[in-house]
Order: sequence, then C-alpha cells, then structure tokens
Amino acid sequence: MSPINVAKFGGTSVANAAAMNNCAEVVLANPATRVVVLSASAGVTNLLVALAQGDLDEAGQEAQLARLTEIQQAILTELGDPGDLSDLIHGQLGEIRTMARQAHLHTDAELADRLIACGELMSTRLFTELLRQRGVKACWQDARQLLRTDSRFGKASVDLAATRALCQAALGPLLGDSLIITQGFIGADGDGRTTTLGRGGSDYSAALLAEALDAGTIEIWTDVPGIYTTDPRLVTRARPIPEISFVEAAEMATFGAKVLHPATLQPAVRQDIPVFVGSSKDPAAGGTWIRASTRTNPLFRAVALRRNQVLVTLHSLNMFHAYGFLAEVFGILARHRISVDLITTSEVSVSLTLDHTGSQSNGEPILGDKVLAELGQLCKVQVETGLALVALIGNRMSEAAGVGSQVFDAIREHNIRMICYGASAHNLCFLVKEDEAGHIVNRLHQELLD
Ligand code: ADP
Ligand code: ASP
Ligand code: MG
Repeated sequence: MSPINVAKFGGTSVANAAAMNNCAEVVLANPATRVVVLSASAGVTNLLVALAQGDLDEAGQEAQLARLTEIQQAILTELGDPGDLSDLIHGQLGEIRTMARQAHLHTDAELADRLIACGELMSTRLFTELLRQRGVKACWQDARQLLRTDSRFGKASVDLAATRALCQAALGPLLGDSLIITQGFIGADGDGRTTTLGRGGSDYSAALLAEALDAGTIEIWTDVPGIYTTDPRLVTRARPIPEISFVEAAEMATFGAKVLHPATLQPAVRQDIPVFVGSSKDPAAGGTWIRASTRTNPLFRAVALRRNQVLVTLHSLNMFHAYGFLAEVFGILARHRISVDLITTSEVSVSLTLDHTGSQSNGEPILGDKVLAELGQLCKVQVETGLALVALIGNRMSEAAGVGSQVFDAIREHNIRMICYGASAHNLCFLVKEDEAGHIVNRLHQELLD
C-alpha cells in the first residue's frame, strides 16, 4: 500500500453539520486519506473544562450542559436523529452530568480527563454517521486503544513505542478497507485510564498517529488557509506563507501561533513527513506546506505572539560567584515539571519566563503555591504578570548584521522587559507589556514583513 495521509480537523471545522460536510468533501478529495482525526466541536472543550473545574453549583452545571446538548443535538437533528446514535450521544451527555456532579471533581485529575475527553468522543461518532450517510465505509475507532501515554492527567506524555505497536496492530488490517475516524487530544495510560495531551492537542495526536503508521503526509484542516505571517486576527495585512521549514514552523508554534500545537512537528520531523495546513471551509484557497527544507529562506518570515506570560525574577545575594544556585532553581522547577522558556542572568538575579505552551487541559495554573514556597526558601521571588512574548521568526538571524536595530527601531517607543537572541538562528524573542503587544506586532509586521 502506498503511504497514507492522516487528516486532522479542528473544532470550527466540526462545529456543526454544514462544517462537517465540508470536512467530508476534503476527506473524499484525497484518496490517500485513510485516517481522520477530529477535535471536539467548537466550544465543547471549553464547556467541559468549565464543568471539570468543579466550582459550579447545580444550576451553573445545568446551564453548561444545556449548551453542550444544544451543540450536539443540532448535528444529530441534521443527521435525522438516528435512534442508536441519538441514544449514544444522550448517554454520553448523561455520563457528563454524573461526572460533573462529583464533589471531588476539582481535585481528581483522572476524573477531569475522563470528562474533558467526551467532546472528541461525541464529534467523532457524529462525523462517522455523516460519512456513512454519504455512502462512505467509515469505521469509528477509540483513540484510547491507539495512543498510549503516561498517567499525567491533563498533559500526558506519549509512549512512542507502545503507540506504534498499538496503531499498527489495530489499524494495519483496516487501512485498506475502511476510513478510520478517531479522536485527537485523548489517549490512555497503561491501565486503560483516559488521559489528555493538553489544550489544542489534536494536531499533535494526528502527527503521532501519522508517525506510528509511517504516513506519507499529514493535513491539518482549520479555519484559515494556512500559516500566516502572523495571526490574521491581529494583523489584517497578514498573508499565508506557501512553504515554511519544520524549524521555523516549530518556532512559530512554540511561540504562540495557535494554528499548530507546539509539539505537532516533533513526529513529523522524526520521520520527515510533510505537513499541509489549510482551511476546511475553503480548500481551494490552498495553504502552507511545512517541510524539512524550503526553496526560499528569508531573514524575516513571521511574527508570533504569546500572551499571558509570567516573568519570575529570583534575587539571591549568594548567587555572586556561587556554584549550584541555578541547578537548585532548575531542580525545583523540574520536580514540578515546569519547563523554562527564556532566561537572562545578572550578578545577583536571574529572570525566567515559564512555558505555558500545551498547557494543562484542566486549566490548572503552572506556577502553584508549592513551587513558589520552595523557591522562596532559596531566594527572594518576584512574579510579574500582564506580559506577552513576541517572537520574530526567520533564518540566519543571528548571523546577519543590523537585525537588532531593524527590529527595535520599529518599536522604539515601547519598553522591552527582556530579550533573548542568539540561542537559535531562527528567532529573536522579547517580552513586552501585554496591552502594547497588539500594536508591537502590527508595527513589526508593517516594517519587516509587509
Ligand atoms: P483548530 O480548532 O482548527 O485547531 P485553532 O483555533 O487552534 O484551530 O487555530 C487556528 C487559529 O490560529 C486561527 O483562527 C488564527 O486566529 C490562529 N493563528 C495564530 N497565529 C496564526 C498564524 N501565524 N497563522 C494562522 N493562524 C494563526
Ligand atoms: N478539543 C481540544 C481543545 O479544545 C483539543 C483540540 O481542539 O485540539 O483543546
Ligand atoms: Mg488548534
């Protein structure tokens, strides 16, 4: 069999029956597509996360449940309310209610994941029926039998070898025969307990399944026709990039371009699988190909923005000429599984920003009281919020003359809180006040990318 294509559709692409019909057209247009990975319908995961946080009273829960039911029922109605499927979806909604009622929900990460996973379980059931009604031989597959993770609920890590073995065994015999429809975002640990990969994780699921099945291509279908020079919601003059390298796209995803989950390109890079990003609403508009290398490698390719950044500054008078201070700080952060993004140091202090990417599915803050207390034993801790990280993405930036002046000239009236430059030839990042970030990105786009 020639290499297959794995196609992933995001929340807005499966928001309702009309959007799902567009997805069906896209799937049928590419005969290589054998596996389809879906997100929950738009808005559903947010509703489930609100329930999983466990702080709503019964009336509040019922309001969320009513909105959930409305979204799912609208699709069921378009499908003619087939009895079995209707029972299945309403059964799932009933389970959601039962889980939401559990008093210990907010402290039970396992239960929260089981609840949050229901969005993808329902959207895939509905889409499988839609395909069948269009005469397609489609087979619903539970992703928890494919994607093996550890037991870190809310942001599980994937066991690649086990996932490969499970995918090959479960899907290998089916691939030539029917179209597989499965869930993004969810998996299961070794005991079969449901886990999730962190918000936006369906892109990553698609890439993991593609890797496990030795796929030839991955398609990420979303609500924009490709990766743009910056978020088109922020800069109206942003334009789609026809071709971009794995490294640049990975930097964009890491530094906030929501169009791809930050981990998506890791499996693609490992197996050199080209990734296409396009709009399920307008497939004819084309999109972006992400590959190992590209024909052009411009100095400036794109700007990414990540809001809601936390800057932690640690002051220690003992740091001067002391060994091991940073090791202790990183030890504490590592024990709490917090990864550091940017770092700058001076004689008596170190400033770092924390990695929020692929943040926990259940909305838990990453800098909890326990970490702060442990750091507080070591040094004086200052936490600043209301910041945003701007990343300029491109090629050979650390080798070219004048990059700094071009960038900072364009935004000279703004205060820059922290700068990281030189560690990668593909980016220049800096922290700014969150309320100035929109203007800064617009200015940079106008000066460097227009
Ligand atoms: P999906 O539900 O399909 O996964 P997302 O909402 O996660 O879709 O990602 C698509 C959104 O990402 C776009 O609507 C756009 O606003 C945002 N985005 C941010 N940066 C970029 C970028 N550089 N190019 C394209 N879209 C971007
Ligand atoms: N439904 C999940 C979320 O909203 C995963 C995804 O859409 O990729 O985060
Ligand atoms: Mg997404």
